[in-house]
Amino acid sequence: MIQTDPSAPVAPAPPAPTSPAGELAEAVVDHGALAANVRTLRAAAGTRLMAVVKADAFGHGAVPVARTCLTAGASWLGVTRVGEALELRRAGITAPVLAWLFEPARAEEAAAAHVDLSVSSPGDLAAVARTTGRARLHLKLDTGLHRSGCPGEDWARLVSAAAVLESAGRVQVVGLWSHLSHGGQPDAVATHRQLLMFRVGIDVARAAGLRPEIVHLANTAAVQTNSRHTAYDLVRVGAGIYGIGDGLRPALTVRTRVVQVRHVAAGRGVGYDHVDRTTRDTHLALVPLGYADGVPRAATGRASVWVGGRRARLIGRVCMDQVVVDVGPEPVPIGTEVLVLGAGDRGEPTARDWASWAGTNEHEIYTGIGARVVRRHVGGTPGIQVPRVGTEER
Ligand SMILES: *Cc1c(COP(=O)(O)O)cnc(C)c1O
Repeated sequence: MIQTDPSAPVAPAPPAPTSPAGELAEAVVDHGALAANVRTLRAAAGTRLMAVVKADAFGHGAVPVARTCLTAGASWLGVTRVGEALELRRAGITAPVLAWLFEPARAEEAAAAHVDLSVSSPGDLAAVARTTGRARLHLKLDTGLHRSGCPGEDWARLVSAAAVLESAGRVQVVGLWSHLSHGGQPDAVATHRQLLMFRVGIDVARAAGLRPEIVHLANTAAVQTNSRHTAYDLVRVGAGIYGIGDGLRPALTVRTRVVQVRHVAAGRGVGYDHVDRTTRDTHLALVPLGYADGVPRAATGRASVWVGGRRARLIGRVCMDQVVVDVGPEPVPIGTEVLVLGAGDRGEPTARDWASWAGTNEHEIYTGIGARVVRRHVGGTPGIQVPRVGTEER
């Protein structure tokens, strides 16, 4: 309609088809599921649990997830980088936090915020002792993952130097730890070797005079398959909290809406390079999520999503910002709900489905969910301040 009177009010634009949050797409995080997973894993481990909330809690939102995990029985938090640990502190979280990627330039800042650091060499140890007050340290032994950690031949030197610094009041050795390469394979030769070497490493540290409060080794897969031999005092659990593993519940649902629908005749090419053609007279629905939002481009040709109650295949290449879905001879209304990823209860694809379509793991699917997908937290602590968990609950 042409506006003839410039002073007349302009009609408001019709509301765009959006999620309840007012965004084109959202990731709904179910804190009830997160809490249930924490309780299940803690019971399986029979020991204390560190909730690993690295990489923004595998894309779920580090601060709200940390609060829920602490409320559900976790007593520690684990992250990779110092910056991630400081984000938790800035949010007022006072539970013990370990940041395991050694960043000497941030050691001072970390220690001041009571963030525990991991040390893998006598050089790291000297750097921490030089720059900080009384840093809380976890000494890491490389038992065979060969990613980080102190090589066996340097371990005796590391633990005795740490014992000397600890007696001088310069550092506090809180933990001894290592990480498994085959966490889910208790019978692998590599696992037996790692367990043996870890036991020896602990003995060497004790002989040097260290009396650390916690020894920790297991990840989710180890808790689920080998908890008796790997649980020690604390398990470091990431994947399982987010529902990756047996008998656990995925917590995250990515939902959006159909923004456009068109009729296309059979035999027409769809999308870049026409890698796909319509095989029937059909309707194509435009879904406003693409690889920038975490829909893996590698899933092209295999993926399907849930559209208004049933599965429909993606057609054509996954684009940066959108995908096209072949909904069939019957059109769907604009605004129809689309479930891209979820627990699978309504028939929507799961992270495991996406991982198999894209040739990756569920972890990469979750951590790939982009920033334009707004996180909405339900079923636990939406926006409420959960009571702070202090160190006395350790
Ligand atoms: C990610 C990570 C964990 C958690 O492992 P999950 O398999 O996700 O449970 C534990 N420890 C370290 C060092 C990690 O990097």
